[in-house]
Amino acid sequence: VRAGDHGTRQRSWYGWGWLEDAVGPVERDGLADLLAMRFGPTDTRTAPPEVSEIALRPARLARIPDSLAPIIQQTPVDRAGHTYGKAFRDVARAFARRWDHPPDAVAYAESEADVVAVLDWACDARYAVIPFGGGSSVVGGVEADLTGAALADRPVVSLDLTGLRGVLEVDAASACARIAGGTFGPDADAELRRHGLTMRHYPQSYEHSTVGGWVATRAGGHFATGPTHIDDSVLSTRCVTPQGISTSRLVPASGAGPSPDRLFIGSEGILGVISEVWLRVHPRPIHRASASVRFAQLQQGAGAVQQLAQSGLQPANCRLLDATEAQSAGVTDGSVVLLLGFESHDHPVDTALARATEIAADHGGSVRGGPSLGGAAGSDAAGWRAAFLRAPYLRDAMLSLGCIAETFETACTWREFPAFDAAVRDAVESALHSICGAGSVGMRFTHVYPSGPAPYYTVIAPGRPGDPMSLVAQWDEIKAAASEAIIGAGGTITHHHAVGRVHRPWYDRQRPAVFAAALRGAKQALDPTGSLNPGVLL
Ligand SMILES: Cc1cc2nc3c(=O)[nH]c(=O)nc-3n(C[C@H](O)[C@H](O)[C@H](O)COP(=O)(O)OP(=O)(O)OC[C@H]3O[C@@H](n4cnc5c(N)ncnc54)[C@H](O)[C@@H]3O)c2cc1C
Repeated sequence: VRAGDHGTRQRSWYGWGWLEDAVGPVERDGLADLLAMRFGPTDTRTAPPEVSEIALRPARLARIPDSLAPIIQQTPVDRAGHTYGKAFRDVARAFARRWDHPPDAVAYAESEADVVAVLDWACDARYAVIPFGGGSSVVGGVEADLTGAALADRPVVSLDLTGLRGVLEVDAASACARIAGGTFGPDADAELRRHGLTMRHYPQSYEHSTVGGWVATRAGGHFATGPTHIDDSVLSTRCVTPQGISTSRLVPASGAGPSPDRLFIGSEGILGVISEVWLRVHPRPIHRASASVRFAQLQQGAGAVQQLAQSGLQPANCRLLDATEAQSAGVTDGSVVLLLGFESHDHPVDTALARATEIAADHGGSVRGGPSLGGAAGSDAAGWRAAFLRAPYLRDAMLSLGCIAETFETACTWREFPAFDAAVRDAVESALHSICGAGSVGMRFTHVYPSGPAPYYTVIAPGRPGDPMSLVAQWDEIKAAASEAIIGAGGTITHHHAVGRVHRPWYDRQRPAVFAAALRGAKQALDPTGSLNPGVLL
């Protein structure tokens, strides 16, 4: 599997991240001991799949034109490596050595002209085409399972876009940059750094996801307030559709009718391929201040965060961890923890931090300090950050130990939050109890807005004995219970993970019917053969 211009390290074709960073036997045994203390011992040790174990149905393409042959691959590892995204259920199926719906070929586009040629060929032949960026989707967005879609048995081409890469133009005066759609996060930032600039967009999957993928999924970066969704950064899009290329005008803002960019932001590969975007970029911050605050009760912390989100202070970090999440980050006294951080390229931020900690204290928080407060904020934040970056690797290791480890996310209003959170926890805890017999649910706020938080839940449970496919079935039941609770309690089925194939049933209930009809009309106009990512969104 090609790694784009991603340095010399090799990306895992079946699991999260860099192959060399996968959890080794010693770390895995340590993890097994921790899990044994919580859930009882397990003998399960499923080894990751080897390339030699890949068994796929034969490719079904009738003909590959000579002009495209150099960029098309049909090897087992290319096809298996483009069969899934990187959700728990994706990695579990790879650990089960199951690739039931592989794409028939992978086209590695190296230019926009390649994208046009692949779309022309595939649409003419009535093949399906699935745009594939970093492949970090956690919602089945890149999966070639067309069950339920029109012409479900047609051949599928996975269109790998990581050859469309690089920062193509920087307009420093206007603080924006034109970036190719297949560029991985760190590669774009490395080029921008030479201009003293950054995209300031850091999803947890930053290293292994692409700019075009972010725009296609409305990704959320990890700043808690202010511009943090990719929506906030997009100034203009260039999108290759089967009916031609749409390029929106580069202007700082526009009131000229419905926004063409809004049509493509969040379109999840069903309307076209985002080949380039102009993103807002920012000078690199030089002023920083942080603190950590501990609360006895979750609702105290939530009250503080609500006031902070409405204060106009705009903390970069305002991450509330419930006691379960805080424990994973090394805070073992049962506290709820609020990690606060401010940053600026322009002005000192100590005053903002001082006011924020005052607000937190008013809600019963005990401030652990920060650089300007002489306390232990650094260790809470560093512990959390290390755990955050390692988490997806540990998830794969827990899977190999027969455990379920997965997350889901949403957003709701402040008024709804207490009842909403209780309903979601109740639903998931009772599903865990009946399906796995045990398990835990932790929650943190990843983003906070004046009108409400984006709660993000982490589920860890001992799977019932069985192969990794049975873990998939168990997780699907738990996830369905969570999704029902979220939609029932008035939240959104996704705040930043997108819809894909996994969230479709609940997304269909969430969106207005009239909007669905309009989206269908746009799809028909831009992709009349229905070739692009069938089954996603529509
Ligand atoms: C461990 C982990 C952590 C994550 N953390 C975050 C997070 O913090 N924030 C967040 O928002 N998400 C997160 N995600 C989800 C995922 O990383 C995002 O959805 C990301 O934006 C996907 O980018 P990608 O390049 O990997 O796209 P892919 O996974 O390749 O594709 C995602 C969807 O977009 C379409 N697509 C991709 N590229 C294009 C393009 N150029 N043009 C048109 N359509 C395209 C695909 O067809 C698919 O429907 C995480 C995932 C994992 C596994």
